Amino acid sequence: CGIVGYVGGQSALDVVLAGLKRLEYRGYDSAGVAVLADGGLAAAKKAGKLANLEKELADRPLPTGSTGIGHTRWATHGGPTDANAHPHLDNAGRVSVVHNGIIENFAALRAELAERGHDLVSETDTEVVAHLLAESFSSCGDLAEAMRQVCRRLEGAFTLVAVHADAPDVVVGARRNSPLVVGVGEDEAFLASDVAAFIAHTREAIELGQDQVVEARREGVVVTDFEGARAEVRPYHVDWDA
Ligand code: GLU
Repeated sequence: CGIVGYVGGQSALDVVLAGLKRLEYRGYDSAGVAVLADGGLAAAKKAGKLANLEKELADRPLPTGSTGIGHTRWATHGGPTDANAHPHLDNAGRVSVVHNGIIENFAALRAELAERGHDLVSETDTEVVAHLLAESFSSCGDLAEAMRQVCRRLEGAFTLVAVHADAPDVVVGARRNSPLVVGVGEDEAFLASDVAAFIAHTREAIELGQDQVVEARREGVVVTDFEGARAEVRPYHVDWDA
């Protein structure tokens, strides 16, 4: 339902949690976060309100890192449980993804992944994306390219934002039939389902077009279509009051 991604010089967890709070008004049934730190990936997710997630984080703190993602979920496939909450991870725990929307062809993709030995642990349509990204990344070594390869296989509506422990300075996103906005700050970048998530930090925004992928780094963002062709971006200034 709500998505936030961050890469920059601040604590990603703080930025992402504050962003999720700004999106709370949309309604949700679960929440979760993942951060890249110390060469690995750490995640926490909980059914219920953000307060439940914050309690979990107080009991079991995540290491501090400057790249991270977060999600508030409105369940469509699989009940509102901790296991079904996003982010979803691959079996090695190296890649993490959050998703708004519905992957229509998830059942076929689940069956295909199971046949290749993947162990899917949730009932969501989303989890297949984490496993497919892990496979693509291990063959191409580029998270944006992996996202493009995966998106070409997906049907339905999706805003996706992902991180990989082996690409610690990058957050990637993609969209089809569901919104994704990029916030371009000074030495930092934000991805979100709604500008409300980041206007406390920057008002320079780029709206991702249909069937586009964004690779966000501290130095800037690159937008392509699902085939990898560079897309023209039209930055705009968010001038409404927060
Ligand atoms: N279809 C996904 C799920 O049920 C995402 C739901 C959402 O947009 O929050 O987990």
